[in-house]
Amino acid sequence: MTTLPQAYDYSFAERYARLQLIDWWDQKAVCGATVLVLGAGAVGNEVAKNLALSGVGRLVIVDFDTVEVSNLTRSVLFRPPDNGRAKARAAADAVRRLNPAVSVLPVVGDMEWDLGHGWFVDADAIVGCLDSVRARLAINRICRAVGRPWINTAISSSAAEVTLFGTEGPCYECTVSADELEQSRRYSCTGFRLPDVSDKIPTTAVTASLAGAWATQQAIAQIHRLSGRDVPGLRPGQRLLHTLRPLATLTLKLTEDPACPHHGEPIPVVRLGLHPGNATAEEVLKACGSDFEELHLGSEFVQSLKCVRCGHRLRVSKPKSKVDDALRFCSLCGEFSRSAIGVSILRRGDREARRPLSRLGVPPHALLLLTGPRRTVWAMLES
Ligand SMILES: [Zn+2]
Ligand SMILES: [Zn+2]
Repeated sequence: MTTLPQAYDYSFAERYARLQLIDWWDQKAVCGATVLVLGAGAVGNEVAKNLALSGVGRLVIVDFDTVEVSNLTRSVLFRPPDNGRAKARAAADAVRRLNPAVSVLPVVGDMEWDLGHGWFVDADAIVGCLDSVRARLAINRICRAVGRPWINTAISSSAAEVTLFGTEGPCYECTVSADELEQSRRYSCTGFRLPDVSDKIPTTAVTASLAGAWATQQAIAQIHRLSGRDVPGLRPGQRLLHTLRPLATLTLKLTEDPACPHHGEPIPVVRLGLHPGNATAEEVLKACGSDFEELHLGSEFVQSLKCVRCGHRLRVSKPKSKVDDALRFCSLCGEFSRSAIGVSILRRGDREARRPLSRLGVPPHALLLLTGPRRTVWAMLES
């Protein structure tokens, strides 16, 4: 929970007077809440706009993409001069204009690699506003691993859906077909950075508003439920679906896949007063005690690429998620014959375990998995 911005206290009652007439509405809870908005496309714009109007305390908006002119037909926060700007920054600026009391943190990057996953633990509500199955699978994996519910959105030109995935029961992966899962695995199996191939599904301002409105209602419900209030909204494992053809609004109950791998106990989180800018893997392991032997970076840190045919080496020094897949091509051999030489697990005494974690691609507020013979925890770094 964030603290209330003192500078705006004088107008607080006046600004939120109408909202406070709602019997279940708790403006202080809304103003004290942090919401993680993953994706600043059409739906992310709607969600950020609605939450800013409602007076949410802090928004973390994540997107790797830049604004294109064609986004202007659906994205309420963007204007023509934003063309070419990072979507997360353009959305954050617009949110500040709508409600200067909202604290906004734009994160320009991939939610899987560039965002510290500590935000999944600290957010009072998590809203997925992304258009790819791969990204949704990643959100689902993280939320299940830390035991947090999340809200998923999806739109087309004729339908909008919003789903609440809980900490138990059906998760997103339970709802994905074997074909989609296989396709997403095949796409990302090398771990190298691939060109963006997301399908350009046509959507409209109407379906974006529908999904954005219901996702906002759900985020507000999640914030209120944390203090034990019963608020109108979906229950875990429920999906609200609006379709234009046929004209219908349905509430669906999702079913759990007994073979789904994301239904174990969440892993506990240990907060550390360490920042990846100066802390090393050795210091993180030391801070958590002798129970832990290994620190998992999450993404492999590639030191070099070596051709398995001719032995030629290319120095890289980057997380694998930032190394273009095309670099696997060895121009000497004319084949995709280069493979990565790097580290993904660090132990005490390793050379890389003595380097600041940020040099190994670890972002602020990261969650790092620490394992030992008896226990596993997430070590959370400072933001
Ligand atoms: Zn599942
Ligand atoms: Zn070669």
